[in-house]
Amino acid sequence: MKNNQPIAHNVRRSRLPEWMRRRVSLSSDVLKMKNYLHNHGLNTVCESAGCPNLSYCFQKSTATFMILGHVCTRHCRFCGVCQGKPVPVDENEPIRVAESVQMLGLSHVVITSVTRDDLPDGGAFHFVSTIKAVKKLNPNTTVEVLIPDFQGNAAALKCVLDCCIDVLNHNVETVPRLYPSIRPEADFDRSMKILSYVKKYRSDVITKSGFMLGLGETEEEIIEVLNALRQTSCDGVTIGQYLTPALNKAKVRKYLHPVLFQYYQKMAEDMGFKCVTAGPYVRSSYEADEMLRKIRGAKT
Ligand code: SF4
Repeated sequence: MKNNQPIAHNVRRSRLPEWMRRRVSLSSDVLKMKNYLHNHGLNTVCESAGCPNLSYCFQKSTATFMILGHVCTRHCRFCGVCQGKPVPVDENEPIRVAESVQMLGLSHVVITSVTRDDLPDGGAFHFVSTIKAVKKLNPNTTVEVLIPDFQGNAAALKCVLDCCIDVLNHNVETVPRLYPSIRPEADFDRSMKILSYVKKYRSDVITKSGFMLGLGETEEEIIEVLNALRQTSCDGVTIGQYLTPALNKAKVRKYLHPVLFQYYQKMAEDMGFKCVTAGPYVRSSYEADEMLRKIRGAKT
């Protein structure tokens, strides 16, 4: 679902390269946003996964809403989200998200979820309810859904695509060789099929994907992933640095210098992506509204 890793609190800042050292500021605006979300029973991937951009985004009153509870049914080794027995689906969550979009005055909203392999359609019905509630209260707000793979259930995906969405984001997270060790329940080819299906079924919907670097991938493998995404006519891609969310999670194999992110950004742009956002702290819904504008503005 996402690649928003916190800096594990036990990773001493001194051990991070200078370009990764960032102080998390808890300004009054950030605290106000946190309180608002908590008081309205709303989960965000920003907090659940401890995204390093939280202060920046909450300062701007933007957040990525995480629906279908805070417990995921999968066990990705890079992810800081709670994993285990999921909580019951909250029927009132869609309207709470919609009211929050209205209260926060969001022009663009990103809705994601934990992966719910325990539900027949993976929770697609709840995405549909949430999107409809958001658009009913906020007809001018653009909607981006960052979806799990619904275990390749095309009917579930089609339900979400039949909604009024602007962007469908689906992350590949890392290179196929590392899937067995990093995200064992996922399938790279399945994710490619999802992104291709979106363009066949709703060519007006913008597609995005994202992955992390620093887990042991090679340059050749990164190029293969970018080529595979281009084969699906994917419009936008985000590339960020993997950070260990906790001691019992995958180790960082390498901290890539910002120059390397610029190198991969240029490479991906030359491959034809309409918008590429790459950098150590880039995450899949980072500057999502800006990416939408750039992709819509890009020459086809
Ligand atoms: S599917 Fe994986 S990445 Fe997504 S929330 Fe679950 S454990 Fe985290």
